[in-house]
Amino acid sequence: MKKIIIAIDGPAGAGKSTIAKKVAASLGYAYIDTGAMYRAVTLSCLTAGLSLTESAATQMAQGIKISFRYEDGRNQVYLNDHEVTDAIRSLEVSRNVSQVSAYGGVRTAMVAQQRKMGKNGGIVMDGRDIGTTILPDADVKIYLTASSLTRAKRRYLELQEKGTVCDLDNIQKDIEERDQRDMNREISPLRQAEDAVLVDSSDLTIEQ
Ligand code: C5P
Repeated sequence: MKKIIIAIDGPAGAGKSTIAKKVAASLGYAYIDTGAMYRAVTLSCLTAGLSLTESAATQMAQGIKISFRYEDGRNQVYLNDHEVTDAIRSLEVSRNVSQVSAYGGVRTAMVAQQRKMGKNGGIVMDGRDIGTTILPDADVKIYLTASSLTRAKRRYLELQEKGTVCDLDNIQKDIEERDQRDMNREISPLRQAEDAVLVDSSDLTIEQ
């Protein structure tokens, strides 16, 4: 059977990675989290103590190796052979990633790798520009969204489960700011592809 390409785009906290992982597991496909790649670039700049300028971030994006491995029943993210799956989810990375991901040089470096990973099919890829820019010929395109309050509540519960002290209003504010930056940047802004199916997950369970 032909192995297809499934593209899932949408804002932070809409449920993209939860759904993408489940779909990939049930079809035996690979799952590629493109947000993790921008997060890895941001983490390496912050760790190196670099100011987040376009030239510094671009040089970093061109020089690092990002890979995904399925280990211990979990999708792990590696940065230059160091496992960074949890480190890339820190508040500091979340607050800075949309600045880094808006840089043309950073996007050029990531786009090339993402197209290569997707071209043979058998893949579920999620992000912001998969259906519009990375894999515009994807066989299935979903634009998954939800209200910013619903998305903030999901993040709040996730953080609480991990024992992190957090504030719902602040999380909602951070999410809305990130949406604004992702939707209004010049290169590959977040938007629904014309041929994508819109799914609003605000009142849906994961199974639905
Ligand atoms: O999906 P996640 O929330 O982890 O993505 C982190 C950030 O990476 C987004 O807010 C966005 O700025 C950037 N991103 C992007 N293009 C993608 C995936 C993520 O610009 N395809």
